[in-house]
Amino acid sequence: MKKNLSYAPQNAWSSADAKTRQAMEKLSRRYVDFLSRCKTERETVEYVRKRLEKKGFSQDFSHDRVVRPLRGKAIFAARKGAMPLERGLSLLAAHVDTPRLDFKQRPLVEQPSVVQAKTHYYGGIRKYQWLARPLALHGIIVRENGEVLPVTIGEKEGEPVFCIADLLPHLAQKQVTQSVSEAFEAEKLNIILGHSIGAGTQKKAGDAPKDPVKTRLLEILHKKYAITEEDFITAELQAVPAGPARFVGFDKALVGGYGQDDRICVFCALEALLEAGATGRSMAVIFWDKEEIGSDGATGAASRFFQYCVEDLVRAWAKNVPVSQVFLETRAISADVQAALDPDYQDVHEKQNAALLGYGPCFSKFTGSRGKYGSSEADAEFFGSLRSLYNRHGVPWQTAELGRVDLGGGGTVALFLAAYGMHVIDLGPAVLSMHSPFELASCADIHTSWLAYRFFLESRIEYS
Ligand code: MN
Ligand code: MN
Repeated sequence: MKKNLSYAPQNAWSSADAKTRQAMEKLSRRYVDFLSRCKTERETVEYVRKRLEKKGFSQDFSHDRVVRPLRGKAIFAARKGAMPLERGLSLLAAHVDTPRLDFKQRPLVEQPSVVQAKTHYYGGIRKYQWLARPLALHGIIVRENGEVLPVTIGEKEGEPVFCIADLLPHLAQKQVTQSVSEAFEAEKLNIILGHSIGAGTQKKAGDAPKDPVKTRLLEILHKKYAITEEDFITAELQAVPAGPARFVGFDKALVGGYGQDDRICVFCALEALLEAGATGRSMAVIFWDKEEIGSDGATGAASRFFQYCVEDLVRAWAKNVPVSQVFLETRAISADVQAALDPDYQDVHEKQNAALLGYGPCFSKFTGSRGKYGSSEADAEFFGSLRSLYNRHGVPWQTAELGRVDLGGGGTVALFLAAYGMHVIDLGPAVLSMHSPFELASCADIHTSWLAYRFFLESRIEYS
């Protein structure tokens, strides 16, 4: 047969038979459930830890399957493979944090008729997307005695939700002429928490007692949760879109939900780690926090946590092997999402090098911006080994860069792994409406990304 000389990526729906479509649907249903439960880094790490411990992963590194969480916000796990540890790890790295609105340390303000929580946004958001929609509160409150009160309000039926009001069109005539960044101010992202005042608070019409709504809210909070205003100072409260993830479209071929960047990769990587056959290198996953704000912090990719985990692993599994050798021999996938070609804004992409929904996981040989600045860029040899692996197994894949040159750009955790000298490339599904409260991903890409991660973990990829 004559070989096709030109290249075009393969649509993952087109190559999926009835059985594969069933598997896609099954995996996507579990993904929708995961996405609905895990909306913060703490919830995601807890979910991952529980799943791994159920499957026999131990915090004792002398075992063959190990797991180590850090402060409930980052987690490392590894499984022994067929090859010795001196040949390095097959590593999947993803992030568990997502853009959201964090409560300020002193959040409560009384405005006319309502009490609001002032917020400081976390990560890259388009501020207007957070207005006039139901929000849930997730997080923890640490009391003075050190006790930790977990908080999830606004997800279950019957529970109240919270909301930021938006300006009505009738009074927005000046606002609509402003630029988007001028029109939507961060200091106006104030979340309504309550409205009523206590009976008899106002002795007579015109009487204006100080902060009656806040006073009543604090009474309610104290009665219900035994907290005071000072407790908010030592809290981590995150406002996230309320409600579950959903299938989108008559064909239910897309998943819509909050936090798919990068929980779609966390989910696919976790499932791959649990199901991969131990036929290649030892396998590991690292799920970091803080990626959306630059990867700093103890639980972010710039910290030493991952290094400490690998050092302990080497001590337990391959005592006399230099840790540097394990790092240098490691093959890593930085599992993060790529921006899908937006059907309505196609001009911000360079179409030939843009990711399409439904065409399988997407490689990014490099990230960064303006002359590849800030990118770790993968070697063609490593990219080549994965290309041939996926072609051999019939896994659809594609390649893209983030937006037009000098127009787009962005980074992932790849460079923090590359700093150890390991082979690393970005590979993850395309997401539409990325960083919005309702991101979209293709069920075909969930399935093929999971497959791609699993084949990677099982492989014995080599090249000189
Ligand atoms: Mn990401
Ligand atoms: Mn992101």
